[in-house]
Amino acid sequence: MITAIRGTHDILPGEVERWALVERVARDLCDRYGFVELRTPVIEREELFAKGTGETTDIVQKEMYSFTDKGGDRVTLRPEATPGMVRAYIEHGLEQALPAVKLFAIGPMFRYERPQKGRYRQFHQLDVEVIGPDDPAVDAEVVDLAWTFVRELGIPRVELLVNSVGCPACRPRFQQALLEALGADLPRLCEDCQRRARTNPLRIYDCKVEADQPIIDRLPHAIDYLCEPCATHFADVRGHLDRWGIPWQLSHRLVRGLDYYTRTTFEVRGEALGAQNALLGGGRYDGLVRELGGPDRTGIGFAAGLERLVLALPEAAGRTPAPRAFVVAIGEEARHGALGLLRDLRTAGLAAQMELGARGVKAQMKRADRLAARVVLIVGGDELARGEVTVRDMRDGSQRLVPRADAVPAAAALLQEG
Ligand code: AMP
Repeated sequence: MITAIRGTHDILPGEVERWALVERVARDLCDRYGFVELRTPVIEREELFAKGTGETTDIVQKEMYSFTDKGGDRVTLRPEATPGMVRAYIEHGLEQALPAVKLFAIGPMFRYERPQKGRYRQFHQLDVEVIGPDDPAVDAEVVDLAWTFVRELGIPRVELLVNSVGCPACRPRFQQALLEALGADLPRLCEDCQRRARTNPLRIYDCKVEADQPIIDRLPHAIDYLCEPCATHFADVRGHLDRWGIPWQLSHRLVRGLDYYTRTTFEVRGEALGAQNALLGGGRYDGLVRELGGPDRTGIGFAAGLERLVLALPEAAGRTPAPRAFVVAIGEEARHGALGLLRDLRTAGLAAQMELGARGVKAQMKRADRLAARVVLIVGGDELARGEVTVRDMRDGSQRLVPRADAVPAAAALLQEG
């Protein structure tokens, strides 16, 4: 038997309805907030991520699906959406083409990670980006969208964490303070942290190694080192969130794993998820567009993990199928009439099914039950001769005969009732 690759998974009927629900809410919300969809390839040049995601990140150093294609080019299955979105924005001059650069994407990402619950090698993200304005109200709008998304999905026990990591003007001072505070403790940290201290000390805050935590807890906080413009920006963002009644908490540990993040960072966590509790994360990336060869534009966005959102959804969400009709044919001579009625129901915009393998009435009714049909339309030889159809309300079992011409409206009325 050939099985799916470790860390990838099939999304089966029964589960896929929950995915559809999450995607529907995402699309509806993005539309309400003025975001338009952008679809980019899942495969890109490796250098896009080396530059855009950052050479020092775990993603680029250890997790990318990169290979040389048959033409000799180095290519990568995208590990995150932002670099591709920014590339497309630059390549197609979207600034001119769109009234506002507010973009979203939904699709698979690939990272060679150790698979566990909530962590996969192929996973899916909703990605949201605003490129252009650096007004704090934009930061707040994006955080609001992220928070409202999780709330509208009905995910219980969630918290919103916010921080600011400053900018290239003030971050060096913070990094220096960080290294000074580490001082003699540095050799006691894990191997990854030793490497981080050399390449990008801020990443030490990402460390999950238990023994390192007491040391990391004593380290300085980024917000105490913000320059005046960064401090004002952050205060304004928090002000908007407070005025809108969005409950947020400051998290000094939220420095994000990516090089291009500046100023605002945020994350939404869900308690129900265990170790992989980050439902979504994002922040400002003021240096990225220029880094990838575009104009000097600031940006902010977030990515939400769809697997984790689906896992965290309330148990019942997405599990109630839309009401549907079922057509039963009694006897071979009624089959053509029944098939015609089935088609009429569908043409009228109703969800309707019929058992197409030749089976007895009992088996057909059983199938209607299994499908939880809301209404069953029975076409038999006698009824057909009289130009009538039996309409059975499956909720209370009541039946009535209606003229064939009224069968579709009668079914529609019951389906409407739900
Ligand atoms: P990131 O792009 O690393 O900032 O991650 C954003 C969100 O994507 C996280 O909060 C998770 O919900 C989700 N995510 C990241 N990596 C994985 C993974 N390997 N498997 C499943 N979801 C992931």
